[in-house]
Amino acid sequence: MIADFAWIRAEPAGLHIRPADVWIDPARPVPRALITHGHADHARAGHGETIATAPTLAIMAARYGDIGRAVALDHDQPIALGGGVTARLVPAGHVLGSAQVVLDHAGERVVVTGDYKRRADPTCAPFTPVACDLLITEATFGLPVFRHPPIAQEIGKVLTARAAQPDRAILIGAYALGKAQRVIAELRRAGCAEPIWLHGAMDSMCRLYRDHGVELGELRAVAGVKRSELAGAIVLCPPSALTDRWARAMPDPLLAMASGWMRVRQRVRQRGIDLPLVISDHADWDELTATITEVNPAETWITHGREDALVRWCTLNQRRARALALAGFEDDSE
Ligand SMILES: [Zn+2]
Ligand SMILES: [Zn+2]
Repeated sequence: MIADFAWIRAEPAGLHIRPADVWIDPARPVPRALITHGHADHARAGHGETIATAPTLAIMAARYGDIGRAVALDHDQPIALGGGVTARLVPAGHVLGSAQVVLDHAGERVVVTGDYKRRADPTCAPFTPVACDLLITEATFGLPVFRHPPIAQEIGKVLTARAAQPDRAILIGAYALGKAQRVIAELRRAGCAEPIWLHGAMDSMCRLYRDHGVELGELRAVAGVKRSELAGAIVLCPPSALTDRWARAMPDPLLAMASGWMRVRQRVRQRGIDLPLVISDHADWDELTATITEVNPAETWITHGREDALVRWCTLNQRRARALALAGFEDDSE
């Protein structure tokens, strides 16, 4: 079958489901938007109607303000969008509330992964592969050099560093939505039972995760706490805070950062990171290629990252593929 998938169009502002006039993760305000997850490069304010999972709607309301008419979908709950298009959201395993979009129209099925990963994550539902005709996949880490190590190994580095240098504060730079809560949950799983400390910018998302039933243990705010009390503390902060005055006020701070980009030595050096933690909420190269193989679409569109290598991999494996140029996707959540 050679399908043309004319009913879904990659526009610079996002993916447009034409018969229903609904946009997926649009870069500008539209009358009706389907949102895969709460990161700022996907979720924006100002849409007339926002369709997403309940946690994603809560994240958007907390971070971005006006989301218009909110339509909450449970994972797997179908919705008729109009124009003969049915949509449902299935877990993407990326952050709390994250979803892939499964679209059915005229006997064709399109799956839009949004951001996703295949590793287990105690803070969100696991990625569910869905067979389809057209797969539209992200490619943030779409180069063979990107292979994420097991997270237990990276978390182990934090605990080893703390045991070896008990008078220092370990500052872990982590994106406030998703990465921070996953790192905390994995520290707990590794046996860290003491309070974990938070920069003020981490507080509201941690609270939102807890309100959605994600267990994070005892969290404390560092604001106003005596410096001496933070010796041996593990402190989560936004990556930008690692290089500002806030960090220098900590007792002999050891700078760690949790990001898939910590695989790249130059980025570790540029940011002055002592303890790089290769922890990503995106699929690595092996997960990207394994997912395409597993979902086995007739055609693959690749966006949001290093499209070229993945297009080439598809071609070498006799798969139809093309790169999309969508606007406004950044990789700061990685
Ligand atoms: Zn994301
Ligand atoms: Zn993204």
